[in-house]
Amino acid sequence: MKLKIAIQKSGRLSEESLRLLKDCGINVNNGISKLKTDADNFPIEIFFLRDDDIPQYIEDGVADIGIVGENVLLEKNKKVKIIEKLGFGKCRLSIALPKEVKYNSIKALNGKRIATSYSTILSKYLKEQKVKAEIHEISGSVEIAPGIGLADAICDLVSSGSTLFSNGLKEVEVVLKSEAILISNQKLRKEKIEILNKLLFRIKALRSAKNNKYILLNAPNKKLDTICKILPGMKSPTILPLAEKGWSSVHSVVEENQFWDIIEKLKTNGAQGILVVPIEKMIV
Ligand code: ATP
Ligand code: ZN
Repeated sequence: MKLKIAIQKSGRLSEESLRLLKDCGINVNNGISKLKTDADNFPIEIFFLRDDDIPQYIEDGVADIGIVGENVLLEKNKKVKIIEKLGFGKCRLSIALPKEVKYNSIKALNGKRIATSYSTILSKYLKEQKVKAEIHEISGSVEIAPGIGLADAICDLVSSGSTLFSNGLKEVEVVLKSEAILISNQKLRKEKIEILNKLLFRIKALRSAKNNKYILLNAPNKKLDTICKILPGMKSPTILPLAEKGWSSVHSVVEENQFWDIIEKLKTNGAQGILVVPIEKMIV
């Protein structure tokens, strides 16, 4: 029994989707030249598809799980289960106008023609905002629509905003914030759920590792109590004696978002030779 996972064949999510599997210790055979491949050390089969097709394949059970942008899932509106946010492929779906057009509030969009490939998401958003605009569904190169007179505004994916800028557009409203997510079929068999749980265990270990740093420092023994209070660690810090009398080495794990605060406190409390090391995997 193998778990079938669908990932984007070629595009912005392909490389990171494959890297995620690799970081989970899965050896994917042959790369993405084919429609599908498998792994030699994990019961998984990998399908390479257009991202737009992935939600449907998963609803139908052709694939069991898949990686797509939230934007694609919301647009396609298929019946699948959302398992996990994956932290890459971050972007936003935004409305943009030619930069010389005045814009004060969303009311300015009333009566305008908006070109987009995301008509489902956009029409829901406009309804919520009580704006009546005309949606022109087009499938690619949305950003050129105002320039050729096809529309007054666009609604498209943005990450840095450089594509908008080079087309003379400015971002005026964020409709949706999106990132890559792991989705699954709603009725997976028990054996497949077991494989999925194994994969999830590894994905979570990677994420904890990314959010934490291993920290080592030297401290005079008389300061150890204070320093241990600053450093909670996974259970509690490890303390090892140094060759130099009266000194110890303290090892611990700190969360990325508290990191700078903690470092400052450690320094003011006598810690020296502080080393910070990335963690590859972390099982809590
Ligand atoms: P496919 O050929 O598979 O249909 P595509 O052209 O529709 O590919 P890509 O441009 O590769 O799709 O984008 C895939 C996903 O990457 C998007 O749906 C979105 O979730 C995410 N993404 C992240 N940043 C951006 C960005 N700046 N522009 C577009 N998509 C982005
Ligand atoms: Zn696509």
